[in-house]
Amino acid sequence: MSPDLQHLIDLQNLETAIEEAKRRIAAHPQRVADADTRLAHAKDAVETARQRLKASQEARREQEKEAATYQARLSKFKDQLSAVKTNREYQAMQLEIETAQKELGVAEERVLERMMEADAVAAEIKKGEQALAAQQKEVDAEKKTLVEELTTVEAALKDATASRAALVASLAAPLVALFEQLARARKGLAIAIATREGLCSACHVRLRPQAFQEIRRNDQIIQCPSCNRILYYIPPPPAAEPAVTHA
Ligand SMILES: [Zn+2]
Repeated sequence: MSPDLQHLIDLQNLETAIEEAKRRIAAHPQRVADADTRLAHAKDAVETARQRLKASQEARREQEKEAATYQARLSKFKDQLSAVKTNREYQAMQLEIETAQKELGVAEERVLERMMEADAVAAEIKKGEQALAAQQKEVDAEKKTLVEELTTVEAALKDATASRAALVASLAAPLVALFEQLARARKGLAIAIATREGLCSACHVRLRPQAFQEIRRNDQIIQCPSCNRILYYIPPPPAAEPAVTHA
């Protein structure tokens, strides 16, 4: 392969590595924020359940007070029952007692419902706390990995940038100018492969047979007639040769 062509391919690979590293570095804060958001959701779920338990317990205390009031009223009626003189008074008092009994039953039923509700919410809190602990562990590990990745990517960026500068310094100025002009015009991709079918892999134009033959030799700088990118050819590996077929 022509050294110039090989250098430009190397330069393209470095440019691509630099862009990828920059993209990953730029994405880092959002990835950390996403992990924090997941943790915050798990915390919120536990906090919401705790608030519900508190509200349920407060409601239960209110209903216990209510039940105590009915209980007191019922006791008072029962005391009064012994003091009544007439059958009519007795019947009226019996009715009062029945009503108070019913009210007390309803109030006690509500207290029981609240107790059951509190048990269910307490179980939910326990589950939420377990989920939160698991999420915390996961997020801690993820953040550690993200920091390690960032360090690796920053080092790769530094290396690629230094290699790029050294390579550019070693190349003829017009070659670098051509590469940079193409890279600017073609979203960072100045180089493309000519496919085995004779197409530009970037813009898919079909190359004229003679141009394709020249490109296949990889011994000069040839640009795509359509997108202007510099083309090169990768010969198929020997293993890709078709196996012997039995006719
Ligand atoms: Zn092209």
